[in-house]
Amino acid sequence: MTTNTITLLPSVEAFLATPKQLLINGEWVDAKDGKTFATVNPSTEKVLVQVAQASAMDVDRAVVAARSAFESPSPWSKMSPRDRSHLLWRIGDLIDESAEEFAQLESLDNGKTLESARGDVGVAAELFRYFAGWATKMEGTTIPMSVPGRDFHAYTRREAIGVVAGIVPWNFPLTMAAFKIVPAITAGNTVILKPAEQTPLTALRLGQLLLDAGLPAGVVNVVTGFGDTGAALVEHHGVDKVAFTGSTEVGKKIAAAASGNLKKVSLELGGKAPNIIFADADLDAAIAGAALAGYFNEGQCCVNGSRLYVQRGVFDRVVEGVAAAAKAIKVGDGFAADSTMGPLVSQEQYEKVLGYIRGAVEAGATISAGSADAAGGNGYFVQPTLITSVTEDMAVQTDEIFGPVITAIPFDTEDEVVAAANNTVYGLAAGVWTKDIGTAHRVGARLRAGTVWLNTWHADDVTLPRGGYKQSGWGRELGSFGLEDYTELKTVIAELR
Ligand code: ADP
Repeated sequence: MTTNTITLLPSVEAFLATPKQLLINGEWVDAKDGKTFATVNPSTEKVLVQVAQASAMDVDRAVVAARSAFESPSPWSKMSPRDRSHLLWRIGDLIDESAEEFAQLESLDNGKTLESARGDVGVAAELFRYFAGWATKMEGTTIPMSVPGRDFHAYTRREAIGVVAGIVPWNFPLTMAAFKIVPAITAGNTVILKPAEQTPLTALRLGQLLLDAGLPAGVVNVVTGFGDTGAALVEHHGVDKVAFTGSTEVGKKIAAAASGNLKKVSLELGGKAPNIIFADADLDAAIAGAALAGYFNEGQCCVNGSRLYVQRGVFDRVVEGVAAAAKAIKVGDGFAADSTMGPLVSQEQYEKVLGYIRGAVEAGATISAGSADAAGGNGYFVQPTLITSVTEDMAVQTDEIFGPVITAIPFDTEDEVVAAANNTVYGLAAGVWTKDIGTAHRVGARLRAGTVWLNTWHADDVTLPRGGYKQSGWGRELGSFGLEDYTELKTVIAELR
């Protein structure tokens, strides 16, 4: 499956040559109990490097470091908004300077194609620069008070919350790390980042870059490990906020565990996005868009359009088109120049996705593209799959699969498709394809989802808020809305005597 493999940069080879440690208080340290775990290249199943496995003791050390970096009069608490802004911008530029190194590490660790990883690195750099602008614009308001016979001056201040734990998944390791770190430090918080156990490398590389850029010690700490490391953070009373992206199942555990000290919680969870194609749509664009919606990032993306609904008159044509697009995708080593789709991230994910495809076949569905068969050989490769003759009660239709699997169901009327599209516990994203502007905006408004795409999919910007309705999450990330989630609002009342 591998051809034209790209040569590793010397800096990547050097990074992979030594076991990776935890970043606590500006220093690289081993886990207190000396435990490590292996991170694996999903294209080859070979171990890339050993990584420190943080226990509750290490989490505690990181919380102490983050707390002392936060509390006034620490250097971080005294840094002016303008200096924070300049620092954020500098970090964005430093990421760009090391972009290829980050992209190679990401592709090796996650499996995604190098080209796709390059795109992710660009987003991370841009995120630092976008939020650099906000650091100097966290404004309050003055509010009139009416107390007879007395004079007051009342105003609000946006202040940092304190110590933020960012817990992230493996599908966009570097950008997800940036999603948590950037708004948190823009607002003056300190951070403990817990990368996913499958993909810790770019977060660790970012940790070094932050130190190189001059971020004070303890402002961002990186603790690598499994779910128990994340759980230790969520339970810790020294943590003031948890920002989590991951499965709805773990999101519910986090919401429950956070209640000990009532820490703030923001959650970006699962999805099962409906993608609706009306008969009057630009079908070429809709077909290409449906394939992108379902197969982008190996289908491992919470906003992927995995449930395709097509108006009956054009159903066969759309299915044929999406099947052809699926077959044209070249699945292979993420590092091979001709791959347009890499492997899934792990053995576990590979077995889960194949299990869903097999289950659909057993339940009577039809495979219109792809296969339920194991690829054979090394690597967690799954062909992009399109499933038809699906019913709403099949697991492949109800569950978030997180793999390159699209189901297609025909519909007749707008009311029928809106009801079907909204018939899910999730509400992260949805899409509509039609040339009728009225239909587009009306149906867009009727869909219960945090993001609605009209005649496009995956179009995005760091300026736009994102998040979920229903069991897809709490709160919004990015844009000005995302920044507010990392602040407390203080009301100050002064009597003018
Ligand atoms: P996925 O299903 O995409 O692997 P998960 O929700 O399992 O996503 O994991 C996302 C992140 O949450 C990972 O960093 C993982 O280690 C962490 N995690 C898993 N279980 C817990 C838990 N109980 N508490 C806190 N973090 C957890």
